Amino acid sequence: MSVKGTVYLLHFETPYKHAGHYIGWTKTPAEERMALHVSGRGSPLVKAAVGAGSNVLLVMTWEDEDRHFERALRERHNAKGICPKCRAAYNEKARNRMRETRANARSVYRERAA
Ligand SMILES: [Zn+2]
Repeated sequence: MSVKGTVYLLHFETPYKHAGHYIGWTKTPAEERMALHVSGRGSPLVKAAVGAGSNVLLVMTWEDEDRHFERALRERHNAKGICPKCRAAYNEKARNRMRETRANARSVYRERAA
């Protein structure tokens, strides 16, 4: 029986090298683990990101999961696709693009007379 805990996703407001996210697993509440990360006693990657001045946010948690789930999630290499903060930013950009497209458009379509 594998140990259950919480899998969590961290979002780096400023990407560190190529990393914009960190996925981890903890037996303690995610907020406690987060405090360790921010103080530099968590993973080296998060420590480096914080040290480089990036704001690190806890954006998602999955409770009652084991480390296999953590690994499976990491191996998908799609943290950006599941991160609510990145998705919100993506949707905002898509909305703006759509607005610009409509602003410059002129409809030349005419219903054909019967
Ligand atoms: Zn993100």
